[in-house]
Amino acid sequence: MISGAARTAHNERGVRSEMTTIEVKNPFLDDKKTVAAEAHGIEKIDVEAVNRKAERPQYASRKKVYPKRGHGFFRNVKWLVMAGTLAVYYLLPWLRWNRGPGLPDQAVMLDIDNGRIFFFDLAIWPQELYLVTGFLVLSALSLFLFTAIAGRVWCGYLCWQTVWTDLMVAVERFWQGDRNARIRLDKESWTANKLFRKGMTHLSWIAIAAATGGAFILYFRDAPTLAHEFVTGHAPLPSYVFFALLTGFTYLLGGIAREQVCIYMCPWPRIQGAMIDADSLLVTYRDFRGEPRGPLRKSQGWEGRGDCIDCNACVAVCPMGIDIRDGGQLECIQCALCIDACNEIMDKVGRPHGLIAYDTHRSIQSEKKGGGLKLNIIRPRTMLYAAVISFVGAIVGYALLSKTTLEMNVIAERNPLYVQLSDGGVRNTFTVKILNKRYETHNFKLSIDGLPGAKMTVLGQESEETPLISVVPDDLREIRAYVTVPKSELGKLPGEKTEFHFVATDAAGGQKTTRGTNFRKP
Ligand code: SF4
Ligand code: SF4
Repeated sequence: MISGAARTAHNERGVRSEMTTIEVKNPFLDDKKTVAAEAHGIEKIDVEAVNRKAERPQYASRKKVYPKRGHGFFRNVKWLVMAGTLAVYYLLPWLRWNRGPGLPDQAVMLDIDNGRIFFFDLAIWPQELYLVTGFLVLSALSLFLFTAIAGRVWCGYLCWQTVWTDLMVAVERFWQGDRNARIRLDKESWTANKLFRKGMTHLSWIAIAAATGGAFILYFRDAPTLAHEFVTGHAPLPSYVFFALLTGFTYLLGGIAREQVCIYMCPWPRIQGAMIDADSLLVTYRDFRGEPRGPLRKSQGWEGRGDCIDCNACVAVCPMGIDIRDGGQLECIQCALCIDACNEIMDKVGRPHGLIAYDTHRSIQSEKKGGGLKLNIIRPRTMLYAAVISFVGAIVGYALLSKTTLEMNVIAERNPLYVQLSDGGVRNTFTVKILNKRYETHNFKLSIDGLPGAKMTVLGQESEETPLISVVPDDLREIRAYVTVPKSELGKLPGEKTEFHFVATDAAGGQKTTRGTNFRKP
């Protein structure tokens, strides 16, 4: 059964066209369907952009989004990125890295117990946390640059909320079917079938969430050891607490809240607006080409109408529940799934791809006037971001390259400042700390420089003229050193306080470090 209703539309150039809504009874679904392209057998999808910007009131209860499965280039890119990021996240703690005996062999580990961050061959000590700050600043600046060039690529492809939500939706689709089947299931009363499908979906979500929480804690201790301790109930309490927290949040945010996190909780959509300008590539509906939209009748050609057949395929695949044809929206995570959906439709109706595409505001204005694409990637904003990235990168690179494997700290004893000996000489006491950041034991010759006539001895090694201090790998050794200036030399010192240096020299490699301090006399 077919019925029709006419409406009038005007495109940008003022071309008037008559549109007809064609309705047919769908033999497979029990509801009435509207045809979008009669000759091509394309039905208009009965979908509402539940988060449409023009219609969303300030306070409204959530309307569930049922994203349809998409197909195409960007969907494949998203599958690949999802597989890659999840594989890295879940498997990285299990990757081993030989650093020598007595040291953790986990490639990536935030060793809270020993105050160390291990990243393959790089070991970051607490006093080197500025390196982590540097990496974070570099990451933030890179994000600014990518946003200025290609909009919210982070949100659309890489953000953990996007990746896990995508995974949870895929699992939901596996158990409950695609969009129409899920809608039908939600409308059904609670039968054994519904109970099974819903139950399995939530159980799978909980399993994924538990794997996510489990993987998270493995980054903080040796993974195989902690996994064994965890299942046998002998892991430290924080492991269970963080496992429960991460599991709960993954289930809640990825499985239940989904697009609500991006729309209401995340500050990034608000911030990224400051990085986007007229030359940023954004997922855009080319309205100058698509309007006036409307269903395409069998006898109708493309003259006097737009390419958009109002099939709603772009709305149905949108995980955010919006309609890209309404223009740029804070809710749009730029995942480009609507591009794939629309390109599929354009293939079917024999029109060129790109009714929805990555495009810039400036380019759209030019295309509207009959001009071509205008890509302007190198512009003051991107050059500024690139310059700052290069500057910070150079600093971080220099800090990394000049990272020492030997450090020494000297603390002079304050009480008493000095001791007057019975032979007239004066003795000062120091605590010397030598840090061996390498993965082998090293012996360091300790000496002093800049205090003529003075003698240094180390507690427990008094007989040695140049004491050899052995420090095991990745450890700190603390010793007590005495510096004595004989009576005959005291008068040559310039004042009550004389600056001199402790020198630690690696007996094997010759690497040397010095630390200045003061000798005090009456
Ligand atoms: S409108 Fe398109 S790009 Fe934006 S979130 Fe929806 S599907 Fe992704
Ligand atoms: S923009 Fe494309 S996918 Fe969206 S309704 Fe129009 S023709 Fe269909």
